[in-house]
Parts: sequence; structure tokens; C-alpha cells
Amino acid sequence: MDKKILITAALPYANGPIHIGHLLEYTQADIWARVQKLLGKTCYFVCANDAHGTPIMLSARKQKISEQDLIDKIKKEHIRDFNDFLIRFDNFHSTHSDENKYYAEDIYHKLQKKGLIKNKNILQAYDEKEQMFLPDRFIKGTCPKCKAQEQYGDSCEKCGTTYDPCDLVDARSVLSNTKPILKESKHLFFDLSQKQDMLKKWTQEGRLQNEIKNKIKEWFDGGLKDWDISRDAPYWGFKIPNTDNKYFYVWLDAPIGYMASFKNLCDKKNLDFEEFWQKNSKTELYHFIGKDIAYFHTLFWPAMLDGADYRTPTKVFCHGFLTINGEKMSKSRGTFIKAQDFIKHISPEYLRYYFAAKLQDSVEDIDLNLDDFRFRINSDLIGKLINIASRTAGFLKKFDLTLSGVLDNEKLLQICQNKKDDILQNYQNRRYATAIRKIIKLADLTNQYISEVEPWNLIKDDKSVARVHNICTTCLNIFNILVIYLSPVMPALADKNEQFLNLKPQNFNDTDGVLLNHKINKFRPMLQRVEQEQINKLIG
Ligand SMILES: [Zn+2]
Repeated sequence: MDKKILITAALPYANGPIHIGHLLEYTQADIWARVQKLLGKTCYFVCANDAHGTPIMLSARKQKISEQDLIDKIKKEHIRDFNDFLIRFDNFHSTHSDENKYYAEDIYHKLQKKGLIKNKNILQAYDEKEQMFLPDRFIKGTCPKCKAQEQYGDSCEKCGTTYDPCDLVDARSVLSNTKPILKESKHLFFDLSQKQDMLKKWTQEGRLQNEIKNKIKEWFDGGLKDWDISRDAPYWGFKIPNTDNKYFYVWLDAPIGYMASFKNLCDKKNLDFEEFWQKNSKTELYHFIGKDIAYFHTLFWPAMLDGADYRTPTKVFCHGFLTINGEKMSKSRGTFIKAQDFIKHISPEYLRYYFAAKLQDSVEDIDLNLDDFRFRINSDLIGKLINIASRTAGFLKKFDLTLSGVLDNEKLLQICQNKKDDILQNYQNRRYATAIRKIIKLADLTNQYISEVEPWNLIKDDKSVARVHNICTTCLNIFNILVIYLSPVMPALADKNEQFLNLKPQNFNDTDGVLLNHKINKFRPMLQRVEQEQINKLIG
């Protein structure tokens, strides 16, 4: 029997808009979740806003609204963006929720009971004017090594040196522009090194990509350090039980947000939370994340879960970053593209298709080259896939919009049907680019066949009119199969196709059947070409 599956994508921070860099991951995870569902598996795909931390507190102050109002507003915007890009979560929650508070405290208490939490006094940069401790990102100054100006408190963007904020030349608080002092404070730490044996085993059980395993080896070699899980007031987050003015660091309760969102879904849908999260659960748990947060998800998170007697993730899937035209997204080059900017000019499904056509199971970066993007959409989708229907559907008017009872080329149809397992295997292994290449190859074969039989000539001769009917029936059956293969990537196209071919919602099993003597609807263009002008507007 298939195991039940829980899938998560990283929680977007509730302090700004969704941009297309974010959408790379949500698209990757959404395609995978849709594949599981189209295979008929019991699968839940959950996410939430990461709604705590100093940046949200300061952002709310600046806008003169409460943190709650800010995160509520951002949550609405994020949900709208995910809907627009066809990211179909079963639940989208917030880390600022009762469920998350409950599980954060629960895990903390269990870790404390096992002696995994310890206290240490640390010296931290403090802004006397604002009366608050400063995160590294809120301190700027001159790099002590290369003397580059305006560098953050943790590392230099010019020369890459990492340092303590107090090492900066002329360090100043970005909040008050005053020089921070060092002040002592008691912090709570998670003693990660106690979980070293567990983690060494866990990371070698086929849960991680090789690139990530190599990275982890470096981390082990460098020694596992205690993790500071507390922050001093003022802070926007959950207060740590039995303390006066200490809060959980945002990264402590962020991954717990996966549990909280699922718990919220369980309460709505009457599902069994324990079945998914108890130690030795028989269900599967998959996290999709960017490679930059691998440390949190492959060391802290499984160690915390194991320490608190919960199940650990089955696998963690990391992806690379998105570059645009070969460079980092940049506001000055116009390539910092927000989801809402994209949708104003170009169909969101095209971005899904392009990402899928480039995504494999590695952590390599993905480049969105806008010339290549336009070329791929126009060539693959319009010129090859949609072309199959647009070259043949028109003739069906002559046959009362009803498919024939006979195929002209059964062999070609079978070739397409027989590719199913191969294509599904590639989806399952997150080699979407390979799956797409195989689908488009089948579209090529079909177009070649149409060009060879020339239905537009056959229709002129009464003796061959019946054959045209069979040719079109073959081609529209193939078109249907290819659209089903593509449906995890392009679900809206699948909907349009179902309307056109007069079908109920389809899944992968429907590719085995053949539509004969079946009434269809009039063909209407399903996708439009991408013009250079649209691209210019997008980055203009
Ligand atoms: Zn430097």
C-alpha cells in the first residue's frame, strides 16, 4: 500500500512580496505534490508565513501598524500570489498561531527535560538609544579587512570575510545611527553536539542529495556548535516559558510552523496529526527548501524533532537559486520581478513550464534567460504541443465535432502511451527537465506524422475524407495524452483541454484509454505566443 505523504515548502517571510525567485521553489514543490495526487496517493501539501522576528517588528513600527496587522496583510497578498501561480497548498497558515505556540513550547520543554538546553552569558551589540539588542544585519560599518564601507555586521559582501559586529571599523546601528555598545545578556542554547551521533546516522540514510551530504561533512568536521535559540525583548515572537523577557529566536519556531500548519489542517479536515508526526510514523515527510537553509533543515530541525520524540523528515530536497539572464536578480537591472509584476505581462503557467523545463534533482542554480524563455514557450508549447490540436481540430467540424471510431495510426498512439512510466519516474525523481524533454519529443513525432499525411490535402478528395477523420482522432487522442503528462506543470491548460475534449477531470490512468466516437467541443486557442514587447515591459 502507498504510504501517506506530507509535503512542505519553505515558509515565505511575512515582510515583503513573493517574487519569481521564491516561485522557483513553490513551483518545484507544487509539481511534485500534484504528481503524487494524480497518482492517486493520499498527500498533503502545507505551508505558512514565517511571521516572527526583528525585521517584522521594525517594519510594522515604520508603517505605524501593529505586527499582527502587517502579517495579516502580507498573508493575504501571499495567498493571492500563490493562487495566481497555481500553487495549490492544502493549507497555508502562519507561524504566529496558537498551534505553533503550542508545539514550540512543547518541543522546548521536551528538549529542556532531556538536558539539551543550556544557558550562557554572551556579549552582544546593543543600541542604547533604541534600547535594544541588534541583530548583525542591523549594524553597518567598514570592513576591518578590505576597508569596504557600508558592510553588515556579520560579513563583508566585497571580500567575504566573516567577523563579529564589534570588529567593524566605525560600527553604527542602522536604527539610530549611534555607535553600539557591547552588553552582556543570558541566552538559551540548544546543545547540538549531544545529537551528533544521531545526526551522523540520519544524514547517511539516503535522505539527502550528495552535494548536501558533502556540505554536512564540512559542518561535522568544523564541529557542531551550540545554537542560540533566544532573543531579548523587544522582540516579535513567542515568549519563552518561565522567562521575563526572552523570546524564541524566529528560526526556532519557523520549521515548527510545518507541524502547526498541518495541525491546523487536521483540525479542519479531521485528520490524525499523531499518525504523521509521532516517532516511528509510517507516513512520509518531505521538505522542499533552498540550499541556503540546508543547515537548519538537515541539522537543527531533525535534531530538535528527535530530541523531542517526534518523527524526522523522510527526505529534504534542496534546490539552487534563480538567476535572471545569468545574474542575480537586481532592482537596477529591472530583474527583481515580483509575482504581481510578472502576471501583468505574461501567463504564470509559462513560468511554471520554463522552471520545469530547467529543473533537475540537483542544487545547481537555474537561469531564467528571457530570450530563451520566449523561444521555449513559442517553440515547445505553441509550435509543437498546441500545434497538434490546432492543425487537426478544425476538420472535426465536418464530422459533427465527433471523433471517429477508428484510429489512423495506432502505433504512434501506443508509443505515446508507453512513455507514461518513464515520464512519471522522472517526475518522481524530480528530473522535471527530462520529463518535459520526453513529452516534447512525442509532440515532435506527432507533428512529423501530420506533415507526412497532409490532412489538408486529403480532405480535398472525397475518397480520403474518412481517413482525415481517423487522422484527427489519432492526433487529438495524442494531444490529450501529452496534456495529461504535462498537467502537474500546466494544470490550467489541462482544464482547458478537458473543456475542449468534453472530459471529466483526468489523471495519469486516463492516458491508457482511447477516445472514440466521442463528442468534443469547438477548438479555441488555448495559449498565446510570448512577444518581445511583453518581455520588454516585464523588465522595463
Ligand atoms: Zn571586506
